[in-house]
Amino acid sequence: MTPLGEVIERLIAEHGPMRLDEYMALCLGHPEHGYYTRRDPLGAGGDFTTAPEISQMFGELIGAWLAEVWQGRGAPERFVLAELGPGRGTLMRDALRVAARVPGFASAAELWLVETSPALRARQAELLGPFRPNWAGRLDDLPPGPLFLVANEFFDALPARQFRRADMAWCERLVIRAEPSGLAFAWGPPRPEPELARRFPLAPDGAIVEVNAGAEAAAAWIGARIAAEGGAALVIDYGDWDGTGDTLQAVKAHRFVGALEDPGAADLTTHVRFRALGEAAGPAIVAGPVPQGVFLERLGITARANALARGLAPAGGPDRGGEADAVEAIVRAHRRLTHPDEMGILFRVLGLTSRGSARLPGFDPAEIRASTD
Ligand code: SAH
Repeated sequence: MTPLGEVIERLIAEHGPMRLDEYMALCLGHPEHGYYTRRDPLGAGGDFTTAPEISQMFGELIGAWLAEVWQGRGAPERFVLAELGPGRGTLMRDALRVAARVPGFASAAELWLVETSPALRARQAELLGPFRPNWAGRLDDLPPGPLFLVANEFFDALPARQFRRADMAWCERLVIRAEPSGLAFAWGPPRPEPELARRFPLAPDGAIVEVNAGAEAAAAWIGARIAAEGGAALVIDYGDWDGTGDTLQAVKAHRFVGALEDPGAADLTTHVRFRALGEAAGPAIVAGPVPQGVFLERLGITARANALARGLAPAGGPDRGGEADAVEAIVRAHRRLTHPDEMGILFRVLGLTSRGSARLPGFDPAEIRASTD
């Protein structure tokens, strides 16, 4: 058992069974032993690799998106450029390299990074120092003004609750102490849950559903801000518009492990239910979600990959091993980010924008949801 596992066992012994969201919050954010508190989990030597760590193309295309949307919204001369859970800061660095070429963008942007992990704040300071970032622990701490925001693989890391339908009632998933030691899952007693019945009217008996209050609160905050002060947001993550099922997963060293196996030492996530975010973002206009592969194609990832490859390969084609390898790496990255068998469909992109604003690049007008139903 990890040190955090022992802390959790003691808490359960004192206070009784623990809700899944409480367990996830401790595993990910415990001030001493939390998964994100001390470590940088990203990259080949870590536990998982994200899109911006696969290729510079990802952040660059988002940078071009941000600059275009900013211009399309009248190029406000001061705005909050925010990223939620920026990891190593790679996405924002690549985005700013491109967006800063648009006159006025860099001087109008006030960069805010919403990040709880001291370890990752330090990495972000290294990479983004020249852009003079500000840090916030939560959305509420962002200053007022138009908001242009990006969140890649942030919402999946927020603690969720799970319930199982039992006839007309619902049982909540709990973490208990196992005999003789360790942790186990159990289902709490059946209770009527009118809100769950409203949200999941078609869930059959025995179906598992997930609810993420923190994710909804964040989406509500962003939607209200954008509707009131202007701006736009992109939420990129694995998940689907709607649906039921147990999507809790624990990942360590690029492998799935048991969610109770290594508390605090494995990444814990659930899939994002975009419908819940779209509904919470209410007053803002909701676009998508569209599959990541489609979104990146619309933003021009294939042209960008070709340009990068041309920059590497001398005229007449690559004739040295190193260049051929580099071109091959670009082809591989393009495939990983966009192919349906890789991240192309599992990952989706949700757009938020203010009413009455111009179209949103990357989204078809038919993908704008007039109302979230
Ligand atoms: N966006 C980055 C990193 C994704 S990992 C990338 O694509 O590479 C998740 C990120 O969210 C990490 O930076 C983590 O420290 C941060 N995070 C997790 N929970 C958070 C919370 N409740 N508040 C703020 N940041 C959080």
